[in-house]
Amino acid sequence: MRSGIKLIQAAGLLLWFAMPLPAGSVEAPFPADHRTMHRTVSYEEMSTFLEGATRPGFISVTEEGRSAQGRKLFLVRLNRGGSKARFRVLYYAQQHGDEVSGKDALLTLVRDIAEHPEQLPEDVDLYLMPMVNPDGAVAHRRTNGAGADLNRDHLLLAQPETRALHRVARRIQPHVAVDGHEFGRDGEGYRTKGWEPWPLITMDAANHPLIPAYLKAAGLEAVAAAAPLQRKAGHAYVRYSLGGPPPDEEMRPSTAEGDDGRNSLGSLGALSFIIEAGVHHRAADPQADLGQRVDGYRLLFRHLLGDRAWRDRIRKLTERARREPLPSFIATNVFWANLGGKVTTVKVVETASGRVIEVPTANAMTDLVVKGSVPTPKAYAIDAAAAARFAPLLTSHGLHWETLARPRRVRIEPCRVLRLEDTYDSLYQRYEGRVIVERQPQVEVDLPAGTILVALDQDLARRAIQVLEPCLLYGLYGYPGFRDLARPAADLPVSRLF
Ligand SMILES: [Zn+2]
Repeated sequence: MRSGIKLIQAAGLLLWFAMPLPAGSVEAPFPADHRTMHRTVSYEEMSTFLEGATRPGFISVTEEGRSAQGRKLFLVRLNRGGSKARFRVLYYAQQHGDEVSGKDALLTLVRDIAEHPEQLPEDVDLYLMPMVNPDGAVAHRRTNGAGADLNRDHLLLAQPETRALHRVARRIQPHVAVDGHEFGRDGEGYRTKGWEPWPLITMDAANHPLIPAYLKAAGLEAVAAAAPLQRKAGHAYVRYSLGGPPPDEEMRPSTAEGDDGRNSLGSLGALSFIIEAGVHHRAADPQADLGQRVDGYRLLFRHLLGDRAWRDRIRKLTERARREPLPSFIATNVFWANLGGKVTTVKVVETASGRVIEVPTANAMTDLVVKGSVPTPKAYAIDAAAAARFAPLLTSHGLHWETLARPRRVRIEPCRVLRLEDTYDSLYQRYEGRVIVERQPQVEVDLPAGTILVALDQDLARRAIQVLEPCLLYGLYGYPGFRDLARPAADLPVSRLF
């Protein structure tokens, strides 16, 4: 087998010498027509390909860190307008190592733009992080080399891959950010009904309550506007949702918490999306239709670059969102519901016949309901005893803070954890980590030297709230590494300061 492969490689090389590539062509580990792809690009192939795709002054590749197991985290920058390229875009993929098509689509984009630079508008500064989780990609599994689910690590930034992604995002300050994933089309719930989910490709916008409403609305507008493009290409497309088969089981948009890529990068002031392509995991060859998923992805990547007018509008909107004052209340407890009991029609594929059928259901929950909120404080105060635990967290998030050199008299509101809940809750559709917190009466205190103050008059205030607000239902104390700080009948190490 081994010598056979060598022979084929040698033959390929001979062919390459016999027929020199036309000017501008790039040697790529995938076919000229991306729609015929049926094998994903490996970490090794990607590394070689990116090396060869570099074009001085136009396409650059940098190493932005190493994975838990020491693999390179690549960032590709495509820019032909120099400093005139003012619309900054960050596409990243494969946080889940076994979800491949977003990365493949990004690599075909690099090839196409390298060969046809005119495909990249001159006012676009395009950044791609095609493989955020190379360890998971090599092992073909969801988690990274340390066993962590990277797309649940955006509050803690405990992993080198998520820390690198956030460093890049803070440096670039993208106007548009997109996270690439895949979902299964042949899960248990659908199979027992003899169905599979209809869409091949889906997209959703950030929905965290702290993200200004006009930014969330612009995101959903872009999600809807992609439908005719996908229809024209023959791809089944809807807004991304989670949940079981209709009509009995609940379907809803993705979580509204700040621990994933979409909501955490959205809180930096970007128009932030998730794309999910559908895979037949149980098929004899799950990658047989890879080219179709890649095509669906590419249409969305192009769509989100928009035209000049759209780019100018989104640039102004996101820059406004970065300056937007904080709301006077922070939503701490939110869930998805169906206000008024609307009946929605959901398309599914009947597996046996291949027929598309429409199922009416009232269990599609598309309305975000706020069940609890707290007044926005001026700052958070972190106990001196917990300072060493919190300092790396604040650093990873690029937050500014002050360590008190001498005692300071302030008014604080301490918080206390009543209990941590790990049972399944059908309202929140989650199993673990609900933190039930009770606010204590405000008191005037002398904070001792060594206390950390994180003021909310800083650029990344929304991120600071997502990370530090003690009253969040899915806050820090539900996560490993911080759970032990939620001691019964004792105040939390973070207080709200007024
Ligand atoms: Zn995923």
